[in-house]
Amino acid sequence: MPLKVIALGTGICSNGCSTGPRRFPPGFLIEYNNELLLLDAAEGVRYRIEDEGYDIGNIANIALTHVHPDHAALPQLLQAKLCRVLWGDPKPKMRQAKVYMHEASADGFEAVWNWHHPEAGGKLNHMPDKFQFSVEPIRSGWEREVIPGLTLKPFGVYHGFGQHPALGFRVETPEATIVYTGDAGITDSLFTSVANADLLIADASTRIGQSYTAGYGHMAPDQCGMLAARSGVKELWLTHYMGIDEPAAMEAEVRKQGFNGALKIATDGLQWSK
Ligand SMILES: [Zn+2]
Ligand SMILES: [Zn+2]
Repeated sequence: MPLKVIALGTGICSNGCSTGPRRFPPGFLIEYNNELLLLDAAEGVRYRIEDEGYDIGNIANIALTHVHPDHAALPQLLQAKLCRVLWGDPKPKMRQAKVYMHEASADGFEAVWNWHHPEAGGKLNHMPDKFQFSVEPIRSGWEREVIPGLTLKPFGVYHGFGQHPALGFRVETPEATIVYTGDAGITDSLFTSVANADLLIADASTRIGQSYTAGYGHMAPDQCGMLAARSGVKELWLTHYMGIDEPAAMEAEVRKQGFNGALKIATDGLQWSK
């Protein structure tokens, strides 16, 4: 099976809200023909990658939906990748990484990096012979075959009162299409963006009974269900949920919307492959 998706983090921006299994903040790993793409990079994601048997040093593509702290512990991940080259045995294959993020957020990253590394004299790559990364600004409409046969297509989503530059990702391969909404409120355009996904990973950060449109920009389980049902989605994962509502109640909310496909209230370690 050339295509695999692993849930590294299906949790939220806090811990201790759920009595269920421990869930880390967001991260999803896609493996395609032995190459890796990481969608979102929360703190802790590097441990989950290791737990799943992968070397963080070998992740060459990192795509962020947006840079809220629960999705973008990027300096820590990049530092870990550099240190993995310095001390790893065996050394990782990849000495380079590309980081894809919204163009409106890319501008500010240098300041964040310099805040962490004032000793580097303003250089992003202060040990270029060991490890190099670059930031690639992306936007809705941009697309690239980031792994041979796998195309990354970002689309704009409504989040942070519509003021936070935020993306979802459509990942297309000849075998299947995977869509990850990132943090997203429900909008007309979202139905088009997720159309006919074989797997939809949807933000269900809003509690049952509290669904809204506009507002902050998250979905409740019923909205995820409506989105999946009307867009021809085959399998739906609810993620980024607080864990206060019972999984069975969340599932019922989805089913009420007429979604009959496979459904998972995602927990860390959940896998899908084709
Ligand atoms: Zn967010
Ligand atoms: Zn979030």
